[in-house]
Amino acid sequence: MRHIHVIGAGVVGLATALRLQQEGNSVALIDRNGPGEMASRGNAAGIAWTDVTPLASKDIWKKIPSWLLDPLGPLSVRPGYALQILPWMAQFCRAALPDRLKLSVAGKAAINKAALPAWERMWQASGTREHVYLRGCIDVYDNARQIDDAKPFWQEQRGHGIEVEELSGDQIRELEPDLAGNVVGGALVPGWMTVDDPHALCLSMAEAFARNGGKIIKSSVSAVKPRGDHVVLHLEDGEQIISDHAIVACGAWSKELAGQLGDRVPLETERGYNTTFTDPNVSLKHAVMLPGLGFAVTQLSTGLRIGGAVEFGGLKLDPNWKRADVMAEKAARILPGLNRANGTRWMGHRPSLPDTLPVIGSSRVSKRVTYAFGHGHHGLTQAAITAELVADIVQGACPKLDISLYSAQRF
Ligand SMILES: Cc1cc2nc3c(=O)[nH]c(=O)nc-3n(C[C@H](O)[C@H](O)[C@H](O)COP(=O)(O)OP(=O)(O)OC[C@H]3O[C@@H](n4cnc5c(N)ncnc54)[C@H](O)[C@@H]3O)c2cc1C
Repeated sequence: MRHIHVIGAGVVGLATALRLQQEGNSVALIDRNGPGEMASRGNAAGIAWTDVTPLASKDIWKKIPSWLLDPLGPLSVRPGYALQILPWMAQFCRAALPDRLKLSVAGKAAINKAALPAWERMWQASGTREHVYLRGCIDVYDNARQIDDAKPFWQEQRGHGIEVEELSGDQIRELEPDLAGNVVGGALVPGWMTVDDPHALCLSMAEAFARNGGKIIKSSVSAVKPRGDHVVLHLEDGEQIISDHAIVACGAWSKELAGQLGDRVPLETERGYNTTFTDPNVSLKHAVMLPGLGFAVTQLSTGLRIGGAVEFGGLKLDPNWKRADVMAEKAARILPGLNRANGTRWMGHRPSLPDTLPVIGSSRVSKRVTYAFGHGHHGLTQAAITAELVADIVQGACPKLDISLYSAQRF
């Protein structure tokens, strides 16, 4: 039996630990904050397998300049971080060039297509199916020109076999009566699934893992050193753990450990903000995306969650809570009955690579260290399929997807 250590107990590390455990390995999780406490805690709860277009796409050029003019808009850069983000931005722009975009689309479509079946297996095996609903998602617009701009994306989704039904403003209000009269149209994507509360899902996964004998260690890993037929993990308190195989699943904090292993990955964080209202006075049956504004509204078991957007500000700068407040204000324009009292604000660090694809695969220096990080806007969606791919890599089996697209050495 192999002894495997998964570093990082976000949704990706949890899914990976469970899958490796299900395959008969002895698995321990190490996390400095506890299971599901970071990006996996407060996200928008979407199993968004129906998204196929990478962020770095051909139309992004048109949008970025106007977005950047508004410091509280869908995309912003904190003044103190502008120089640091430039190299990543340059790689992001390169990823939108036609030959590279083809690879990103292929990689994203393949992993998202496999994402839901993998989750179905994970929910069954871990007894966590009660956390998820088939609710569908509606892209909602208050601007007819933006609907025209969205049509090619919907067509691209249909090309990947995804059902997308265009709707008028009235049809949308029939489905969601709390939406305002200024909604002019959009599209329903019925296959989208929603988790009742992403933190609750993580805690249930951690419980299932512990119930089956998994160990959860609260500590920070400062170094991962492959040594012949094993790997030595150095913990912050000086303790060393000898492992047969280590998985780096530290989300936005993975860059340093990957760097120690010879992989200079351009990992950055896209910070996102939201507010969860426990007494919103409105309710939604579907997830509602507001692509023109860059955020989403999701009905959770814990309240109505409003937010998203992207802020480049690294891992250390304090949150700018105005960003969360402005999104709630804007949401009130399409949800006029929204009660904005009793809201809890949150900021999370998406772990993002410039080509919108995650890093899944072996480290440069040793096959005994496998990476599983960098899932950007889709870490919840892609966690279970990532877990299956990692388990295949660890077992030496042929992975079900072409993992060269996700290699850390692609940069
Ligand atoms: C506003 C917002 C909305 C989002 N909405 C969605 C959505 O609807 N659908 C979707 O699919 N995705 C969504 N995402 C993205 C998703 O939340 C992330 O991609 C995902 O949570 C990343 O999971 P992770 O396990 O890789 O990272 P994390 O959840 O951040 O976990 C990493 C863990 O590693 C631990 N760690 C780090 N370094 C060390 C170390 N050295 N030693 C020990 N432990 C360490 C941390 O404590 C942390 O617990 C959203 C993100 C944001 C911010």
